[in-house]
Amino acid sequence: MISVSNIERFATRDGPGIRTTVFLKGCPLHCPWCANPETWQKEPVLMHMENKCVHCRICESVCTRHAISFEEKMFRIRRESCDHCGQCAEACLNSALSINGTYMENEAVLREVLKDLDYYRESGGGVTFSGGEPLFQKEAAVSLIKQAKESGLHVAIETTGVCEPSLLQQAEPYIDLFLFDIKHVNEEKLSAVTGAPFEIVQKNFEYLCEKRGGDVIARVPVIPGFNREDLDEILTFIKAHPVRAVNLLPFHNLGKTKWHQLQKDYAYEEASSLSAKELEPYRDELVTIGG
Ligand code: SF4
Ligand code: SF4
Repeated sequence: MISVSNIERFATRDGPGIRTTVFLKGCPLHCPWCANPETWQKEPVLMHMENKCVHCRICESVCTRHAISFEEKMFRIRRESCDHCGQCAEACLNSALSINGTYMENEAVLREVLKDLDYYRESGGGVTFSGGEPLFQKEAAVSLIKQAKESGLHVAIETTGVCEPSLLQQAEPYIDLFLFDIKHVNEEKLSAVTGAPFEIVQKNFEYLCEKRGGDVIARVPVIPGFNREDLDEILTFIKAHPVRAVNLLPFHNLGKTKWHQLQKDYAYEEASSLSAKELEPYRDELVTIGG
């Protein structure tokens, strides 16, 4: 079984053609700009939509674990008490609560993905495994990736680069395209802000570039105050490797609502999105802008 956050059909930004993106749960990082914070933990997670909530407190009354409370009309959840049974979500008449994440058999995931096989064939698309970190679930993830390849699909992976090198090496033969995040090349900054050890990222990146450089697209989420000012240094590092392309992804705050739904503080509350135009000076034969 594998823990899945979401399966998104008709995705067009996660590799070539029309694709289905499978968001797997679990991530070793905690990037403060993350657009999918609901994927961080492998276990299912309860989400609350304040804009739908009428504060009727039915959820509080049905929770036998007393995980929900209201303080000054504000919904509160003690996550350590919640076993994500989903009873509160079922009881909520306003669909203000939902559980993100479900454990699925590989076959069930692939059944969903294969529904759009005709579109993949027409468009040169396939399946993309994303997250979180798609290899966070280790052998379970490798087995799903292998089965996807054996089903005849074009397989892409969006990776943070933070996973055991042996796992990446096991999965590599079954992957056609690697969308590999290089968030920073400064060890201290990367570790302090995201929790990622640069040593592992570098080791995995170099391994892939050496073996499959033509199938590697390096992706840089460009974040104001984190790496926006260090892009030259980051691009110099990437360009020293034989990658197929480099993709700069301008910061956006579209994940903000999810942070609120998880009762997490979002660090970019007031920050505005970066425009692709601002990154134009970096565009060249290798570097593209936007997803
Ligand atoms: S049951 Fe739904 S609407 Fe009522 S307080 Fe709970 S989350 Fe809000
Ligand atoms: S998911 Fe279950 S344990 Fe968690 S808050 Fe809702 S009712 Fe309580």
